[in-house]
Amino acid sequence: MPSLDQIQLAQDAPYHEFPADVTVETVSECNLSCVMCPQGRLTRPRGRMSYDLWTRIVDEIAEINPGTRLWPAHMGEPLVMAPEIFRWLRYAKHRGIERVTLASNLNLLRPDHAESLVLSGLDEIIVGIDAASVDCYREIRTDGNLERVRRAVTYLAETKVRLASTTPRLVLQFLVMDENAAEEQAFIETWQRAGIDLELQITPRLGWAGGVPAWRGLSSLQGSQRKPCHTLLSGMTVFWNGLVPQCDRDWNGRTRHGNLNRQSIHEVWQGSMAQLRSRHLRGDHGSALCCDCQDWAADLSRTIRCGAPAAAANV
Ligand code: SF4
Repeated sequence: MPSLDQIQLAQDAPYHEFPADVTVETVSECNLSCVMCPQGRLTRPRGRMSYDLWTRIVDEIAEINPGTRLWPAHMGEPLVMAPEIFRWLRYAKHRGIERVTLASNLNLLRPDHAESLVLSGLDEIIVGIDAASVDCYREIRTDGNLERVRRAVTYLAETKVRLASTTPRLVLQFLVMDENAAEEQAFIETWQRAGIDLELQITPRLGWAGGVPAWRGLSSLQGSQRKPCHTLLSGMTVFWNGLVPQCDRDWNGRTRHGNLNRQSIHEVWQGSMAQLRSRHLRGDHGSALCCDCQDWAADLSRTIRCGAPAAAANV
């Protein structure tokens, strides 16, 4: 991981008339319980989004700014909804959303799902793995099965080749934390040897606005280093029931800025969310949730290409 003096603090983001990223909690159930995720402690209602709400969200993005990146997962595993989720992804791509990114632990991916996922037109899939050894994986991702995930990554890669598809781009994520820090290099080398066209993304463990302990590099940042939060300035999150919190780190819904059952994305974005963005831009980061949060500085990922003919590391 980079040292503290290499940290790229959150950049001033350009003004967005409409969110550049929309994260949609298609479902708030998960098949795993992971040490770096507060999902198991949700006290807000759990459930699945209606298809009607999903299509209204997609339609507004398609009409106003199809370049907005759509993330169809938040505090839940989207493959819990398989095979239904593949229809949702197809709809988004059919409506012209340019970049749809699915985050998954991939434990539930069956071979026949791989074809549906590729044919949906999904642009990329980020697979949370975070370990090189079976023991470490099991310690971090209770109930998970690393061998099953490795096979699923292979199915996906083979299916892309069979269907002559360049999508979805495969990204394997390693969140660095005390439990796995010793395995970072082994994780990289294992996948570099696998001969699969994919990317590795190495990222510090986030703190979810106080929901879990953040990587200590983030938690040691001083208030004087604080910058406006990029997540707040560019993105909107929608819970499965249409409620809109201030950002994706508000995992348990402590804040509420709107309800997409009654309002449009644009209306919510230009309402009280605009006032909060203005506060951050003026240097006022004093909202209750932001006070507990270091994730505003979390722009620290590095990416490593694997498997391509000219595979090369870039940091
Ligand atoms: S600093 Fe505030 S707006 Fe930014 S991620 Fe943390 S809680 Fe959300």
